[in-house]
Amino acid sequence: RELGAVSSNFDYQNVELPQTAPEEILPDLDVYDDQNLMTVRSLGNGHFGYVDLCQYDRYRNGQNEPVAVKSLIRNANNQKYRNILYNEIQTMRQINHRYVVKLKGVTFPSVRIVMEYLACGPLGKYLRDNSGKMPLQSLFHQLYVFSSQISDGMQALQEHRLIHRDLALRNILLNRDGENSPLYVKISDFGLSRVVNEEESYYRGNLDDFPALWYAPECLCPSDISVPFQFESDVWSFGITIWEMFSFGEKKPRYPSLPSVKREDIGKLRELLSNGERLLQPEHCPPEVYDIMGLCWQFNPQARIGFNDLQQRFIALAG
Ligand code: ADP
Ligand code: MG
Repeated sequence: RELGAVSSNFDYQNVELPQTAPEEILPDLDVYDDQNLMTVRSLGNGHFGYVDLCQYDRYRNGQNEPVAVKSLIRNANNQKYRNILYNEIQTMRQINHRYVVKLKGVTFPSVRIVMEYLACGPLGKYLRDNSGKMPLQSLFHQLYVFSSQISDGMQALQEHRLIHRDLALRNILLNRDGENSPLYVKISDFGLSRVVNEEESYYRGNLDDFPALWYAPECLCPSDISVPFQFESDVWSFGITIWEMFSFGEKKPRYPSLPSVKREDIGKLRELLSNGERLLQPEHCPPEVYDIMGLCWQFNPQARIGFNDLQQRFIALAG
């Protein structure tokens, strides 16, 4: 049954899940009892939510399991935000992939998202802290590997007919299997993601909350009209994400003719993109990587490169 199908006055935040069988609503989801969950510290805030590191003492015997718990932004008790949280649960539970953050369960009785805790933190922070300390060649090698991993994870999302809609450097986290094992990426933040029906190839969302600078031109329509998000729209955002990576996390995407973008500027943004303007090549970015960005930023969605090809290209670059 679809969680989203619960009636519109259902209070997601404070309601108790049906006493009889929460598993009926959330099959396969582990339930984390709020009472045994202790917040350690904040891990970050985003547009819709905040994420805390918590320790879960399942059997109240001091054997703690560290988890990351995502809640809605404080006071966000309206339906729109609750739907975002439930949507995120619905999406995350469908995908089990090495390069995608894993959903572990939900808290009970107040519903929050319990994820695996990724102690290595966001890729952007890692790049800001370490890019200056590494020889450029080894930094690039690492960025090629990360880019191929993100492509791999995105390919898996598409195989599950999922559109992420918020692919950006801020939503790429890092993990490692052990202290001396290599770092690898985890695609996170499925708050805006959508499952697209077999019969459709796009999702119509609205432009309310929205990282316009990461968005493909086909998503930049006037706000009152619904927007067709396609699988290929995620490829455009991937191009922006690697632009941020090869700027070492130090720059926000900005177009030369539009130094800042407000909601009113969405039409201008679309126009400059349709005129062929693109983000400039980052200072240290290898030309072959900037060429790949160009393949992601084809105006016509059908002309864009796919995640499979992207993965192969970055594997080839990593050598
Ligand atoms: P939002 O939807 O509000 O943008 P995110 O899911 O992007 O929320 O999370 C916000 C921040 O919390 C991230 O930028 C990251 O720093 C941190 N974070 C999120 N999930 C995890 C996790 N599983 N492990 C560690 N940190 C996390
Ligand atoms: Mg986020």
